Amino acid sequence: MDIALALAWIRALAAAVERHRDELTALDTAIGDGDHGANLSRGFTAVTAALDAPDAPEPATVGAVLTRTGTILLSKVGGASGPLYGSAFRAMGAPLDGPTATPAELADALAAGLAALRDLGGAVPGDKTVVDAWTPAVAAFRAAAPAGLAAAAAAAADAAERGAEDTVPLQARKGRASYLGPRSIGHRDPGAASTALIFRALADATHSAGG
Ligand code: ADP
Ligand code: MG
Repeated sequence: MDIALALAWIRALAAAVERHRDELTALDTAIGDGDHGANLSRGFTAVTAALDAPDAPEPATVGAVLTRTGTILLSKVGGASGPLYGSAFRAMGAPLDGPTATPAELADALAAGLAALRDLGGAVPGDKTVVDAWTPAVAAFRAAAPAGLAAAAAAAADAAERGAEDTVPLQARKGRASYLGPRSIGHRDPGAASTALIFRALADATHSAGG
């Protein structure tokens, strides 16, 4: 991954958030307070505005793109998802301190993002949260990393989407949805669904960049 691909990832993600905004809102209306689509839309609109600003500094490292993304998400997105995703992007950016990153380095960065999510939110797999999509995605990315970035990103996106789908039968044990108890069963977790967008955007951006 180079800096241009990191920027393309974030732009693809921002576009995906807009396309899926109403779907994320509907998922969060079912088991939360209906703001997940709006929260992420506000955050990623601010992120792309900052990246495209005429006076925006040229990022010098792959990590700078991700760290800046995380900082803006932290400042613009309320709710649970702002601090969670903001911290995850900042944690991913921290180790990527060069102009390019290998698939193995990116695997470590994605794992650091997951660790930040787990540290901050205290969720474990099975709690019906972002962690349920992020965990299989990181494992799939790492397993496929020797085959290259395109293969790793595609495997991670598929795994994240399966992980999000697998939250449907779970009862939420963290966040607002946990207040519903057993009534949270039967719905896809909105955060797991948006995590699937993060990994699909990485796969799409990588594919568009030619692998
Ligand atoms: P809020 O719940 O404050 O309205 P959002 O609607 O933006 O925030 O985000 C909800 C999502 O955040 C949930 O679907 C879930 O995936 C995630 N989430 C909530 N609490 C936690 C937690 N403690 N750990 C991990 N993820 C969480
Ligand atoms: Mg919400």
